[in-house]
Amino acid sequence: MTTGHDAVHDEGLGLDPDDHDRAAAELGRFLATYESGLAERPLVPAVDRAALGSLLDPPPEVGVGVAGLFRDVEERVLPWSTAVSHPRFLAYVLGPPTGIGPYAEAVAARLNQNCNFWQLSPAASVIERSLLDWLAGLFGLGAAGGIFTGGGSMATLSALCAAVADRRPDFRERGLQGGSRPLVVYTSQEAHRSVDKAAALLGIGLDNVRHIPADDRFAMRPDLLAEAVHTDRAAGREPCCVVATAGTITTGAVDPLDEIADLCAAEDLWLHVDGAYGALFALVPEVRARFAACSRADSVTLDPHKLLFAPLEAGCLLVRDAEKLRRAHAFSSSYLTVADDPLMRDFMDFGPQLSRDFKAFKVWAALRTFGVERFRTALRRTLALAAYLGERVEAEPGLELMTPVTLTAVCLRLVDATDARHTEVLHQLAADGTALLGPASLSGRTAVRACVTNHRTSRDDIDVVVDRLAQLARADQ
Ligand SMILES: *Cc1c(COP(=O)(O)O)cnc(C)c1O
Repeated sequence: MTTGHDAVHDEGLGLDPDDHDRAAAELGRFLATYESGLAERPLVPAVDRAALGSLLDPPPEVGVGVAGLFRDVEERVLPWSTAVSHPRFLAYVLGPPTGIGPYAEAVAARLNQNCNFWQLSPAASVIERSLLDWLAGLFGLGAAGGIFTGGGSMATLSALCAAVADRRPDFRERGLQGGSRPLVVYTSQEAHRSVDKAAALLGIGLDNVRHIPADDRFAMRPDLLAEAVHTDRAAGREPCCVVATAGTITTGAVDPLDEIADLCAAEDLWLHVDGAYGALFALVPEVRARFAACSRADSVTLDPHKLLFAPLEAGCLLVRDAEKLRRAHAFSSSYLTVADDPLMRDFMDFGPQLSRDFKAFKVWAALRTFGVERFRTALRRTLALAAYLGERVEAEPGLELMTPVTLTAVCLRLVDATDARHTEVLHQLAADGTALLGPASLSGRTAVRACVTNHRTSRDDIDVVVDRLAQLARADQ
């Protein structure tokens, strides 16, 4: 005879103590062996359509159990997953998560805090706020508020929303349908596509986004920015916001933030700094000065899932006048009763989401576990490795740098090779397991881009990549 207790258990969605132990052991083993075996893993899985097709199977009526699930991970998921944490995965800006990151995700999932209003998640509310305070301090935006987001794109979307709502107090009621003059957003030709995307989603319209040309170091030209603002005003349009970039995605160029801030002050424009890739290098004293003018911005986008090595997703938006962010996003509601408290934040009022996960926890957990100095050291290392990569490329007669290395993104070409040959070289490097590099387009030419965002990459890894590139370049001569 089964007891009522057993019956509930058999049909339930919890784990019994044995399964808890099994899951913990399997998880620990998976994480440890994944980490130690990384350098031997293929960078990019050979796509096996039959194997991937089997993942289309509908869920089973009777489950496979804990051990079965971890077998699935090993046999059906892991082999077809890109090894983004491999030390020679140098495409995009995508670092490996810290070792504690996956465990922190598990804790956050267990607590399952809904970070919408503080009574529902008091510790989470204060932890998210404490990180925002710390980051605001880092950028000289001491009194700023903000929110953790799903990434840099979402942060920039909310920043532009705040900028528009600030410019048009009736934006919430009338949208941009009021028939008044079109608002114009300025950014550079090297800006991330998330700026265009935000402008499109907010109804600003891509026709009202100006992509200001860059100088020969790929930073925005402030003289041409000023000209564009004046031209739009003269034509009856309404300049609204400038999105400057602190570390462009392709080359790591930092726009002249001080000059742009001067212009924004003179022209009464909202200054947003997209620091998703580069701004967190401000943690490193040697390069901090380049980001000092973030202190003059109205808002700043950061991406802890890049330079703070948080597992995806963790973006962050800082806004100098948090009230402006709140006015753009807060809606009172009948079933949520909240009371203001100086210690707490109701984060639902600072972004588009209501139910929100506890993203700040994995960032906080890693900073607690390792301490800030270790992050500083990791970032300093990536900067040094990128500089070393640049030096090695310059010393190779068959290779050329397309622009001096500023942060950790390095763009290079094989001397005299066609664009098509560059694409071929990228495939070759991936296929022979040397490295995954990215393509980049610079001044209309195709480049090979290597971005060091991995705290595990070593000088030996850089040598492997440059030696192979030099060998391929020699084969062309
Ligand atoms: C990565 C990046 C973004 C987009 O951020 P997501 O987190 O991918 O949404 C925007 N701008 C720059 C400069 C970036 O490097």
